Amino acid sequence: MAAPGALREAVAGAARVLAAAGEVVLLGHVNPDADALGSALALGMALRARGARVRVSFGSPEQLPSSLQDLDSEGLFVPAGALPETSTLVVLDTGAEQRLGPLAERVGSTIERGGDVVVVDHHLHNTRFGTHHVIDERAEATAVLVLELLDELGVPLDQRLARCLYAGLVTDTRSFRSARPSTHRTAARLLETGVDPEATVKPLLDTHPFAWLRVLSGVLQEAQLEESAAGGLGLAHAAVTLEQSRGVRGEELDSVVDLLRTAAEAEVTAVLKEVAPGTWSVSLRAESRVDVSWAARACGGGGHRLAAGFTSHAPVAQVLASLRSALEQAPRLG
Ligand code: MN
Repeated sequence: MAAPGALREAVAGAARVLAAAGEVVLLGHVNPDADALGSALALGMALRARGARVRVSFGSPEQLPSSLQDLDSEGLFVPAGALPETSTLVVLDTGAEQRLGPLAERVGSTIERGGDVVVVDHHLHNTRFGTHHVIDERAEATAVLVLELLDELGVPLDQRLARCLYAGLVTDTRSFRSARPSTHRTAARLLETGVDPEATVKPLLDTHPFAWLRVLSGVLQEAQLEESAAGGLGLAHAAVTLEQSRGVRGEELDSVVDLLRTAAEAEVTAVLKEVAPGTWSVSLRAESRVDVSWAARACGGGGHRLAAGFTSHAPVAQVLASLRSALEQAPRLG
């Protein structure tokens, strides 16, 4: 965790690298969310306005998630397979290079060629895999750190750029529920550019195809509550098989955990998504008392104290057994 002075120095150092770059590739983590993609697009737009050649990408999927398409108003997105090598790489909202999926090797190859890899992130235990690091685990969203970079670069905020940052800020604070006074000051700056909050947030959080509601009812029907798990604090879990999720957007699947976590009896919520036959991507959430980033790391993943995840190739029963055991041992918070 950077002290405020160290963070300011890191921002200044990264801004110097970015100001000098003629061609920049900005990457978010695989299956990017609004913070990863919004942060990459906002910084990309700013560097483009300063004259750089800019591309934004992520390891998978191959196209922009449809709920995030509106954010790319300048067409900066390029599929991973079509990305050129550049001497300046910016990696956003990504705690470890493995989270870049098929693009992870770009980090090593850029550094080997003497290039710069600027990491901008707010995840706990970021592995500091770049050459320059703007990392503050207390930041509500990577978007907040990008705004500091933009201020350092002297880039004026405009509406299209601010909308990308606002999208990241709203979603990573769960609609400002984990906000501090400074979060609202940041949001005010962004809205003052003319961003329409409802039009920005609705496609991200509040819009699903009707067919999804049917799938969701099946998933919730099978959900389980284990009140004695997590040392008696309670665990709610559900699994979404490939069969159930066929034809459903990734964005829809991400909403399951937010619904399931409303169960009052469970401190911890886990949603297992089958992302390839026999491969489970597990999303963990805690309300306030269990460090699920610890449990996720014990299972081979990582994340934030109250929102984390891991991937497993084990059968569901075994994934749940490992998770129960990790939750017994995970540090309690507060
Ligand atoms: Mn984030």
